[in-house]
Amino acid sequence: MEDEVVLDNLASSVVLKMQQIPQLSGLPISELEAIPLGRLRKDATRLHAVCRYQKGVRKAEISGPADVRCVDVHPAALTQDWQRYAAFLLYHEYLHALGFAGHDKTFRNLEALWPDEEARGMGKSFGLHLRKRAAKWLWTCPQCAKEYARNRRGKGRYRCRNCSVILIDVKAEAVSPKG
Ligand SMILES: [Zn+2]
Ligand SMILES: [Zn+2]
Repeated sequence: MEDEVVLDNLASSVVLKMQQIPQLSGLPISELEAIPLGRLRKDATRLHAVCRYQKGVRKAEISGPADVRCVDVHPAALTQDWQRYAAFLLYHEYLHALGFAGHDKTFRNLEALWPDEEARGMGKSFGLHLRKRAAKWLWTCPQCAKEYARNRRGKGRYRCRNCSVILIDVKAEAVSPKG
């Protein structure tokens, strides 16, 4: 399936699920579907998704979906393996779009209402996945097989954090264009 179709389908399912969360009732959830969806650059490693506001609108002034220009999601999250995480990312950005601008306690409490508990915890492994696919070298521990994704060779100068054994350089596989 094309990324656009995947993203549209995910967004619809996220909006549906949000309509079933009692704590969100009264918020303009159906308006979320009007927000244009896009993709981050495929080589982005720091951002997983972002909610971009209309020109001139400050974060503290967000009053609802009409203040949002678009929501962008990392294309690597749209693959089969990561779609549950992509749904959670959309949920996170949609909470911002509903006017919960910061990552304060209220936001985190609402974020924790997402029913897919496993997806809520996938951020760290997705970050690792992105760094790994961007890395040119995997400094590999010959003892415990732990891999450290890096852009330069280690040249025998670094040790494994677990075993203190000197890491060996293994060339990372080229990132496939479909990633
Ligand atoms: Zn956020
Ligand atoms: Zn090790």
